[in-house]
Amino acid sequence: MLTVLYLVAGVLFILSLGGLSSQESARKGNLYGVLGMTLAVLATAMDPRITLNPILLGAIGIGGAIGATLAARVVMTAMPQLVALLHSFVGLAAVLVGISTALDPAGGAGGSALVHGIEIWLDVAIGAITFTGSVVAWGKLDGRMSGAPLLLPGRHQLNLIAVSAIALLAVPFVATHGGPMGIVALLVMTVVAGWLGWHLVMAIGGADMPVVVSLLNSYSGWTAAAAGFMLSNDALIVTGALVGSSGFILSVIMCRAMNRSILSVVFGGFGTADTSAKPDGPVEDLSALVTTIDAEDLASELKDSSSVVIVPGYGMAVARAQHIVEELTRTLRDNGTKVHYAIHPVAGRLPGHMNVLLAEAGVPYDIVFEMEEINDDMPETDVVLVIGANDVVNPGAQTDTSSAIYGMPVIEAWKASKVIVFKRSLGTGYAGVQNPLFFHDNTDMYFGDARETVTGLVAALRQA
Ligand code: NDP
Repeated sequence: MLTVLYLVAGVLFILSLGGLSSQESARKGNLYGVLGMTLAVLATAMDPRITLNPILLGAIGIGGAIGATLAARVVMTAMPQLVALLHSFVGLAAVLVGISTALDPAGGAGGSALVHGIEIWLDVAIGAITFTGSVVAWGKLDGRMSGAPLLLPGRHQLNLIAVSAIALLAVPFVATHGGPMGIVALLVMTVVAGWLGWHLVMAIGGADMPVVVSLLNSYSGWTAAAAGFMLSNDALIVTGALVGSSGFILSVIMCRAMNRSILSVVFGGFGTADTSAKPDGPVEDLSALVTTIDAEDLASELKDSSSVVIVPGYGMAVARAQHIVEELTRTLRDNGTKVHYAIHPVAGRLPGHMNVLLAEAGVPYDIVFEMEEINDDMPETDVVLVIGANDVVNPGAQTDTSSAIYGMPVIEAWKASKVIVFKRSLGTGYAGVQNPLFFHDNTDMYFGDARETVTGLVAALRQA
C-alpha cells in the first residue's frame, strides 16, 4: 500500500514539473505538487514503522506553522533568500538523520552493511555541503555578506584536499561498521564537507548567484535521494532524483543564458559584485550626460508609435508595478499599438521572476517573449520601455571585456528607434556595473519609482 501511494505521489511530482514548464499550466502544476506532497506525508505518517508521538506531531505543527507564516509574509523580491534558506534546512535535516542512523544500529535500511555505510556517508556529505553552501547563498542574497567572491590562495587545491579527505574518511567508517572510530570519522567528515560547502559558495561572486541558487536546489535533491536509499524510502528517492536532475538542468539552462560554463560557476571566482567596474565618476556628475523625459512627452511619443516592447526587471518587482504596467499595456493596445514583452532568463532575482509577476497581473501569455525570440525584432521596434531593468539590457555585456557581465547575452534594447528607461537614479543593478545604454543618443531616462512613473504615464496617455 505504502509503495503504491509513494508511486502515485511520484507521478504527481512528475506531472507537477511538466505543468511548471509553461505559464498556462503552471497553476495546475503547483496543484499536482501540493497533492503529491500531501499524499507522501500522509502515507509516511501511516507507515507502521513510524510512531506518531506528541513530540513528532508537535514538531510537524510548529514547523508547518513557521513555514506557512514565512511563505505568506515573504515579498517576491526576497524569494531567492527564502529558497536558499529552505535548501539549507534540507541539508541540515539530511546531516542529522544520517548521523542518527549511523548511531542507531537498528536504524535505516537492511541489506549490505557496506552499501548502507556508503549511503549514510553520501547523505551526510552532500547534506553538509548543501547546508553551509545554502547558508552562505542566503547571506549573500540577503545582503548580510559581501557579494564579492572570496578567493583564497590555492583554493582549488584546498577543495581537492577537502574532497580527498571526505573520500578517505569513509574507509574507517565503513570498515568499522559505524563503530566509535567510524563515528569520529563521520563527524570529522561532516565538518570538512561543511567547510567545502562554505568555501565553494564563498568563492562565487554575486553575478553568478542565480546559478548557485538552482545548483543548491539540485544538491538538496541529491541529498534527499541519498537519504531515501539510506532509509529505504521510495518517495524520497523519487522526489530527490526529480529535484536533483531538474535543478541541474535549470542550472545548465541558466549558465547558457549567462554564457557561462557550469564548471566555472562551480569553481567560482567570477562576478565580483562589489569590485567590478563602478561608474566612471560620481553618479551626480553623470546625470549631465543623460537626457530625461516626462509623462506628457512620453505619452505623445507613444501615441505615435505602432510597436512597443516592454522589458521588465528587478525594479518593477521592487516597486510592485506589475499591475499598473498591465494597465499601461491595455491602454496602449486599446490605442492600436502592438505591445510585446521581452523577458531575460535572469531578470529579477529568481528564475521565472518576471513571468510570475506578469501572470499575477493578468498580462496575456501570447505577448510575452523570451529574449532570443524577440531580439531580432528590436530594429523594427519604435519604443522600448525598460521598466526597472538594468543588467539585462546592458550593451557593455557585448563590448566591454572588463565588465563583470561580459559575455552574458542581453536584450538588445538599444537597437530600437527609441529607448525609455524607468528607474530612480543612474545607480547600478545587481552586478554593480555602469550601463552605457543610459548615455545613448536614442535613450531617455524617466526617473522615479516605477509604480509612480508608470501611473503618471497611464494618466497622461488617457488625456493625450
Ligand atoms: P538589476 O538588478 O540589474 O537592476 C534593477 C534596477 O532596478 C536597478 O538598477 C534599480 O535602479 C532599479 N530599481 C530598483 N528599485 C526601483 C523602483 N522602486 N522603481 C524603479 N526602478 C527601481 O535588474 P535586472 O532585472 O536587469 O537584472 C537582474 C540581475 O540580478 C542580473 O545581474 C542577474 O544576474 C541577477 N540575479 C538574478 C537572479 C535570477 O535568478 N533571476 C538571482 C540573483 C541575481 P535605481 O536604484 O536607480 O532605481
